[in-house]
Amino acid sequence: MAQAYLELKNVTKEFTSEFQTDKVVAVQDFSLKIDQGEFITLLGPSGCGKTTTLRMIGGFEDVTSGEIYLDGVKINDLLANKRETCMVFQSYALFPHMNIYKNVAYGLELKGLPKKEIQEKVEKILRLVGLEGLGKRPTSQLSGGQQQRVALARAMVIEPKVLLFDEPLSNLDAKLRVKMRVFIRKLQQELGMTSIYVTHDQEEAMSLSDRIVVMNHGRIEQVGSPMEIYARPQSLFVADFIGKQTNFLEGIVQEISDQDVAIDIGKKVVFVKSINTLSKGDQVTFVIRPEMIELSQEQGLLEGIVQMVTYLGSEVVYEVLSSNHLFTVQVSNPLKHGIYHTGDQVFLNFDLENLPLIKS
Ligand code: ATP
Repeated sequence: MAQAYLELKNVTKEFTSEFQTDKVVAVQDFSLKIDQGEFITLLGPSGCGKTTTLRMIGGFEDVTSGEIYLDGVKINDLLANKRETCMVFQSYALFPHMNIYKNVAYGLELKGLPKKEIQEKVEKILRLVGLEGLGKRPTSQLSGGQQQRVALARAMVIEPKVLLFDEPLSNLDAKLRVKMRVFIRKLQQELGMTSIYVTHDQEEAMSLSDRIVVMNHGRIEQVGSPMEIYARPQSLFVADFIGKQTNFLEGIVQEISDQDVAIDIGKKVVFVKSINTLSKGDQVTFVIRPEMIELSQEQGLLEGIVQMVTYLGSEVVYEVLSSNHLFTVQVSNPLKHGIYHTGDQVFLNFDLENLPLIKS
């Protein structure tokens, strides 16, 4: 198998401080192979170890154990400035006393490049980030979005082997965040730059990434494309963390035959294709995204009563109570499908065969 461009091998980070009697294991046994040009996002709740992982790659934090390799070289003992990685921070970290041009040129000057080459590179990157002709402007006069574009240009112009992003958009308003993430993705693809991005915003992770690494308590829960993570979560944590208002339907494996598995979901028994990891008596959970449920007045798998209707224009969100279980159902294009009202009796339909089924 070809060697990975960036590889983390069993990386662990423990923190101890004089105020703490216990040590904090921020990252535990983290192993991942990343290809050149890939956009990887570390996603997870606050405190799960995303930033610490990023900082270990960038050289701002030592590893307690494990190794990090970049382009065939072990880098975890190298100083940050010798690693050929570059970090884009949430706070932009621009030099306030320098204009845009000077901020962007700084890293190239440190490298001792000829003036003419610096000028060409800076002008090219300013064009790419949409700040052409603004080089003389002081950074103090820029909007948040413009400052972040300068920070991006400053990082990209030195052509690092890996670009590291530490929640770079969290200081921007919601609209600008969406604009900037499209911008970052386009730029990254254009330049083919290997990127590791930290966020706790799942929508940001889904829209930017080739692969998402979902973390929980310092460990990797799952690695996969946005679609795999959403459609095939491998744990209840991932199923719950990704997506909104996910429904969980619990059951117990009642019978297993060569053809199918019978699962008791309370009021009835349902059948799914045989899965060889299951045994009789196992507790299982179906993961049902709100848009995977269809409502019908005539017939269906489960029967329920509409409890709440939220009309959102392009979609309607219903809460439907079915044998003590409250389901959230999202129906797009309500004008076409008609709208149910509170108190209506409905049937819920979903394709059991294609739902993620997680052993609890
Ligand atoms: P957030 O989304 O809130 O930034 P995160 O997923 O990036 O969180 P980290 O900042 O990597 O999480 O922190 C992981 C764990 O390590 C947390 O429990 C945190 O308190 C702890 N931690 C991080 N830095 C230090 C430090 N310098 N000293 C002690 N503990 C630390």
